[in-house]
Amino acid sequence: TDTLHIIGGGMAGSEAAWQAANAGVEVVIHEMRPKVETFAHQTGLLGEMVCSNSFRSDDDEQNAVGLLHWEMRAADGLIMACADKNRLPAGGALAVDRDPFAQTVTDTLLAHPNITVEYGEISELPKDGKWIIATGPLTSGALAEAIAAETGAEALAFFDAIAPIVYFDSIDMSKAWMQSRYDKGETEEERTAYLNCPMDKQQYDDFIDALLEADKTEFREGETAGYFDGCLPIEVMAERGRETLRHGPMKPVGLTNPHQPEIKAHAVVQLRRDNKLGTLYNIVGFQTKMKYGAQTDVFKRIPGLENARFARLGGIHRNSFINSPTLLDDQMRLRSRDNIRFAGQITGVEGYVESAAMGLLAGRMAAAEIKGGSLPTPPDSTAMGALITHITGGADAKTFQPMNVNFGLFPPVEGLKSGRRGRKDRYKAYTDRAKADWQAWLDQG
Ligand code: FAD
Repeated sequence: TDTLHIIGGGMAGSEAAWQAANAGVEVVIHEMRPKVETFAHQTGLLGEMVCSNSFRSDDDEQNAVGLLHWEMRAADGLIMACADKNRLPAGGALAVDRDPFAQTVTDTLLAHPNITVEYGEISELPKDGKWIIATGPLTSGALAEAIAAETGAEALAFFDAIAPIVYFDSIDMSKAWMQSRYDKGETEEERTAYLNCPMDKQQYDDFIDALLEADKTEFREGETAGYFDGCLPIEVMAERGRETLRHGPMKPVGLTNPHQPEIKAHAVVQLRRDNKLGTLYNIVGFQTKMKYGAQTDVFKRIPGLENARFARLGGIHRNSFINSPTLLDDQMRLRSRDNIRFAGQITGVEGYVESAAMGLLAGRMAAAEIKGGSLPTPPDSTAMGALITHITGGADAKTFQPMNVNFGLFPPVEGLKSGRRGRKDRYKAYTDRAKADWQAWLDQG
């Protein structure tokens, strides 16, 4: 049989190697560390966690990332097994002892009879053979150039600039309204792509003060090379002048508030539909380096968002990722060269768990193909399926930014009560449905 080559032995590459090797395929992992370093990694180990030591919530009934843990454990996932083995007490979260964790990942992979590791940087796109590129947010410069040459430079980003994303059902529509600026847009879908939240002068002034005072995260050394002016954090815009935001992303022109048509808003915060399902909206132009706690405090001051729940908070990071909705098929293969799959953070998912999850799928899909068959894409009712469906088709390609797993990516379960009470039942219904569907998908494979 063919060998599977995997570039990058991080979260995604390690999991992909494990899954493919267990399916009986010979795997070579190409890892550049410790020969070539990144600004964030500290060791030469496979599966190194570059920052926090948390895999987030382990609640598989009420939390989407906890559900992803469950699905990976059910699929004999390496990253989850090593995390469980090196677990630290952390309440409902899955925290791990980072160095022993990475050491366990490394030892387990090196001990596998079907896996070899070659240390060295790959700097070109492979011409033939079966490959998975899982080089992560800090993909080396040479390989990034090669990817950009293949995909077009605009299809590869070096930074994410993530505006916070809100669940639609947590927005107060007695204050907000749907309208695109100057009613632009050809279709009904385009005209309802935007939601607006009005502010009067007092609310705007208080909001600017809150932004200026909020706790912010600094860029790490070496992270800002190539930092561009086109996506300034909102707090930096506010620092440039109190009116800057009102003339930028918060300009009130071309909009009429149907709740108060006689009053002209002093400023307007716009939200844009973030997925085809219409369950998620991002706050336009609100990329930020504010700390997470500060973000929720500040954003809840926006009229209509007082009770907002966030599917993900904002951020700006060094992050290489491709425009998966246009470049990848639903098997995570590069449309222009189908011997190459992508997996992990470079596909536009965000986080250790999501990256490992996409590695798990890519590894299984590649192995099935090498053995002469194929695996269907998991249904979008599962956490795995919801993520892959989002990045390869559900997300808007024009505004594509990395995504965490969250229940807004799942097709709704019909016939359940809405509201705070209903939410618990709804999430339980999502996770029950996901577990059954994931098990059925595994049984086919
Ligand atoms: P990685 O785990 O980064 O693995 C990619 C591997 O590819 C690396 O080992 C790298 O050395 C190797 N590589 C790169 N280029 C080449 C090449 N050309 N040839 C050979 N090998 C190559 N996520 C969280 O969940 N929590 C956090 O707290 C968090 N903090 C972060 C902080 C920073 C500074 C950064 C940059 C990212 C952070 N992330 C965090 C995101 C995190 O990096 C990912 O969630 C996860 O590590 C991605 O997994 P991956 O396998 O896609 O990439």
